[in-house]
Amino acid sequence: MVAANIARKGMGRILDGIIKYRQTLRPALLEEFQKVATGPSPEGLLLTCVDSRVVASRITQAVPGQLFIVRNPGNLVPHHNCFRNNVTVGGECGALELACSINKVQVIVVIGHSDCKAMNLLYSIRNELKSPSKGPLEDWLRFHGRGTLEQFKKLESSSGFDRKLVFAGAQHSEDDFEAYIDPRNEFKPSDKFSQINTLEQLKNFLTYPFLKERLNRNELEVHALWTDIYKGEVYMFSFQEKTFVKIDESTYKTLALQCV
Ligand SMILES: [Zn+2]
Repeated sequence: MVAANIARKGMGRILDGIIKYRQTLRPALLEEFQKVATGPSPEGLLLTCVDSRVVASRITQAVPGQLFIVRNPGNLVPHHNCFRNNVTVGGECGALELACSINKVQVIVVIGHSDCKAMNLLYSIRNELKSPSKGPLEDWLRFHGRGTLEQFKKLESSSGFDRKLVFAGAQHSEDDFEAYIDPRNEFKPSDKFSQINTLEQLKNFLTYPFLKERLNRNELEVHALWTDIYKGEVYMFSFQEKTFVKIDESTYKTLALQCV
């Protein structure tokens, strides 16, 4: 048994966790692993932030073999041009091909979150972009977050942050979609920035030829979720309602009807 009441950190705590897992979760998980041992058929790909507080497989109650999970700072989707001609080799591009071209998942979901340290950083330097970057994290955010910065500038220019934004095509087609960001004004500006960033990523899936084909044939759908990590609430962007809607027992059925 794990020694009780000893506060450990770092690798010690990871080892403690593995022992606890062996003693509690492993028997049930073994059954799940055996179900997918001969041929897993994952159904979706989640692309979310590296933040340690975003527990994507827990909030979705995912089982082994169900979901691919890709993580990077700020849940950013690089444009396919970044990988064209093999100039840059990137994990996101490889993961999308593995999940969507080789395994034919049915859905891609970008998950953003509140108090995102990556987004907070980009938000804080949004008016200082002519200054030299301080490191690779800033480089990553400045480069792939350009669209987010432009969209936020439009929102910031409206009184009360209440302007409707138009995002480039995402779901099934190249049609633009409209969004009202935080219409009840519940979240601070940096969280509005994070919500914009989550929606802004959707357009880049269409830049990948192997995704565009499946999106245009309606074999693949794209969605955006956003989670308030301190309240434990999860929101889904409704293309019909043009805003993020809290997923709960009263909205679930309506939101589910909006999925293919
Ligand atoms: Zn984050």
